[in-house]
Amino acid sequence: MPDTPAKLPDFVSWPSFPFEGDLRVKPLEPIADHEPPRQGEDAGSCLACSAPDEAYIWVSERWRVRAMDRPTGLPMVLILESRSHLDLGDLPNLLAAELGVMTVRLERAIRSLDGVARVHVNRWGDGSAHLHLWFLARPLGRLQLRGSFLSLWDEILPPISEPQWRENLALVAAWLAEFGGRPLAEPPRIEWQAPSTFKSEIVADTPGPSGPEIVSSAEGSGATPAEDRSGEARVLPGAAPGDTASTEGAGVATGSEAAPRNRPTPGIPKPVVPSTVPSPGNPPTPGPHPAASPAVS
Ligand SMILES: [Zn+2]
Repeated sequence: MPDTPAKLPDFVSWPSFPFEGDLRVKPLEPIADHEPPRQGEDAGSCLACSAPDEAYIWVSERWRVRAMDRPTGLPMVLILESRSHLDLGDLPNLLAAELGVMTVRLERAIRSLDGVARVHVNRWGDGSAHLHLWFLARPLGRLQLRGSFLSLWDEILPPISEPQWRENLALVAAWLAEFGGRPLAEPPRIEWQAPSTFKSEIVADTPGPSGPEIVSSAEGSGATPAEDRSGEARVLPGAAPGDTASTEGAGVATGSEAAPRNRPTPGIPKPVVPSTVPSPGNPPTPGPHPAASPAVS
């Protein structure tokens, strides 16, 4: 098999390489006569184009961000898509410039999450024709996951907890919405409470000089996932779809953006309708299989 390199590449000995044991290089298949069409090569059959905004965690006039349909091994895996049916090389200058803004913004938002050390940005484009960039968060302290094998580790590691995953999605959506657009994932730990119930959250043992503090239910209520597993969409009565849809979330002339904070502070959730966090029963279907490995997408 002359086309098949016999020697294993050096990277199999890297600490980040996920496998060990006896390995062999696969025989190379013959070169194809033609490239097969990708999913959605034609806009009419494109899953991304036909997906409703509710399949995403944040949308704006020209961009949308979606998650996998369920938690995976990494603390956060997100996909940034253009709303228009374009591939990377087709972007007009406005969208190309906004792609830079959106990429930086999303990297910052994901990096602000607890337990995230680094965010890797990838674009492959072999699976789906519609532009989609992958954002993969490398867990803090997981040095073994550093580098280009991170997308493989995402499928190897046990999935993170669903409450944590939903909270991360909501935090990223809220961060992005501070610059415009519409968040469609809400913090699962923020409950709509009557004022009287806030009293139960007064921290009695830390009065300090400024008196008792109210613990933000989004930050530190101490609610366990079992106590607050709702994570379900909450719909505010009276809110109308598209309230903020005309606000573009990726203007290129936004000036300097805040340096990364520890966390976005969404405060009271914004009324969004309908608010759906992708779930196994409500998958964000565009593109290839949402939980598919980025390596094939
Ligand atoms: Zn499309």
